[in-house]
Amino acid sequence: MSKIVLASGNGGKLKEFSQLLSEFDIEVVPQSAFQITEAEETGLTFVENAIIKARHACQQTGLPAIADDSGIEVDALNGAPGIYSARYSGRDATDQKNCLALLNDLQTTPQDKRSARYQCVIVFMRHAKDPTPLICQASWEGSILMTPQGGGGFGYDPLFWVEQYQCSAAELSPEQKHALSHRGKAIRQFLSLFEQYRRR
Ligand code: IMP
Repeated sequence: MSKIVLASGNGGKLKEFSQLLSEFDIEVVPQSAFQITEAEETGLTFVENAIIKARHACQQTGLPAIADDSGIEVDALNGAPGIYSARYSGRDATDQKNCLALLNDLQTTPQDKRSARYQCVIVFMRHAKDPTPLICQASWEGSILMTPQGGGGFGYDPLFWVEQYQCSAAELSPEQKHALSHRGKAIRQFLSLFEQYRRR
């Protein structure tokens, strides 16, 4: 069984990638197992930050690495919070504080001007100098509610209106969310590219 490092400390992501890659006989190891310091996300795009994280994990472990970077873009805020989604409300940000900050910034924005989308980029690098990383990018269209709704999901999900189901992302089952979401779509792209890559 070969090993791939996951450039993330998020337990949910580790579980998801481990399950999906087990069918390729691949063990996904979190970067925390190597006592790696977090990479500094200095990029200005999701793609740059995902590459920075994957390259850093390859450099520190000598193994292939997967990284993902995601966030939410709100059109009325010119794409903010974007790559700063996780820390939108400041250094001690929490999901709840981030949602409050977003609602505050959209206080005067009417419902029909609150279009938004989640973005997700997944990058796989075979080694730190890999000149052709696998890059998968996907989005999920929605809009931002006036008040939070639902107790599931994480992050901005209680504020993210899903037209198709007439509810917030926090009211979807995990299966419904995975079928529609930016991350679900990017992961499906990744699995298909990875399958081709493994056959080469
Ligand atoms: P990262 O991908 O771990 O860097 O997280 C980026 C941030 O974007 C998260 O902390 C959330 O605030 C937000 N985000 C990304 N994907 C989702 C999602 O599926 N639901 C809710 N918030 C999300």
